[in-house]
Amino acid sequence: MKKLALHWKIIIGMILGIVWALLSSTLGWSAFTINWIDPFGTIFINLLKLIAVPLVLFSIIGGVANIGDPSSLGRMGGKTLGIYLLTTVMAISLGLVLVNTIQPGRLIDYDTRLDNRLSYEIWAASEGHEVKDGHSYLNDPAYAERVKKVSALSTAKIDASIVSDKLAKAENQQNVSPLQPLIDIVPENFFASLSNNGLMLQIIFFALFFGVCLLYIPNEKAQPVLKLVDGINEVFLKMVDLVMQAAPFFVFALLAGVVSKMAGDDVGKVVEIFKGLSWYSLTVLVGLLLMIFVIYPTILKLFVKKISYIGFFKAVSPAQTLAFSTSSSAATLPVTMECVEQNLGVNKKISSFVLPIGATVNMDGTSLYQAVAVIFLAQMHMANLSLEQQLIIVVTTTLASIGSAAVPSAGLVMLIVVLNSVGLNPVWIAIIFPVDRILDMFRTVVNVTGDTVVCSIIADGENMLDYKGTKNPTETFDLD
Ligand code: ASP
Repeated sequence: MKKLALHWKIIIGMILGIVWALLSSTLGWSAFTINWIDPFGTIFINLLKLIAVPLVLFSIIGGVANIGDPSSLGRMGGKTLGIYLLTTVMAISLGLVLVNTIQPGRLIDYDTRLDNRLSYEIWAASEGHEVKDGHSYLNDPAYAERVKKVSALSTAKIDASIVSDKLAKAENQQNVSPLQPLIDIVPENFFASLSNNGLMLQIIFFALFFGVCLLYIPNEKAQPVLKLVDGINEVFLKMVDLVMQAAPFFVFALLAGVVSKMAGDDVGKVVEIFKGLSWYSLTVLVGLLLMIFVIYPTILKLFVKKISYIGFFKAVSPAQTLAFSTSSSAATLPVTMECVEQNLGVNKKISSFVLPIGATVNMDGTSLYQAVAVIFLAQMHMANLSLEQQLIIVVTTTLASIGSAAVPSAGLVMLIVVLNSVGLNPVWIAIIFPVDRILDMFRTVVNVTGDTVVCSIIADGENMLDYKGTKNPTETFDLD
């Protein structure tokens, strides 16, 4: 009998997980699901992250050292960062066009927006931010009425506890040098970077530094180190193969946990959560789906003729389904590498350099979502943003997506920086918090798909793409 492809098994696991969660919340068993099933999802993510951190380190060292000559390394590095930046700016622009056209924030009911506007003004005055007006409704008697009752108004219907720690972080970020992000990339203690999953940029810096220096030491000394690094990489990839055998079960547990936590013992709650945020969620989703199904395949077709539309999706679907279920590009990285190498025929020299960097710095889905979220929040508070402010958003979302760690909800936390940059209240992230995990699943798929597209383009440009049609992805993770 023909074996079912891995991505189908994962999709079945996901569907069963959702069905189980809905059933268990109807029967009042959600506590059981959260206590006894969800932990397996956490174990799965832990296992993948456990592999991802050292894999980034050793694969970049191996990648750099195997390229062999510093000048081609420089050329490839430049190309990689250039194309990553280009796709990110494209994603943000798409997000801005969609959110300015659909205007989801204006579809919220008028009274709520008036309340929001007032609370925004109060907050801005207390922070010393200038508030642009010019809205016709500001002359509305209903608004004047509200101004009178201002003391009775609370700033917004927000659970302060959720955001207080995120706010503390935002405040810390305010009084630092503009070069702080650069300082943060250079670790003073490499072992401290390793022991903290959020410090991936430091690990990349160290790996590049190490790899380049390996190129400059005498060959007889460099060879044993390189052999060791290659061997270690093989071990990690074998670990991925092993873990992936159980992926469908783990994914079942993950999804059951995520949905149970949202629904509790009342399935109707999930619908409620989405109701007020439906237009916002829809705008983000349309943008993300356009990226996956239209923009990326078009870019790929333009640069790499030989990979067909269907062939591409068949090749990367295990990584995409895993990105969807784990919401973490870092956890997905080992599988992304296998898909690109084995199914698309990208040479290891390219993938081991381009993909770990991409998983950390190239987050097109995150940047698109951040652009939509900021404008949506501004719209629902009747905060007019000038063209200049929208340009600032392009720059800050690019930087924020680079700075976001490749783990669940990182993009939401980094949104604080973007809101701050245009004088909006960072506490507003609490408004979109309820739907964030679901949107995170979709944006992580975009983040991972973007990396695979750029990796194929670079490989083709370097004549290191040996695409022979996509084989059945099941074979990718067979243990032999
Ligand atoms: N979860 C995303 C990722 O790992 C980051 C984010 O947007 O929160 O790619």
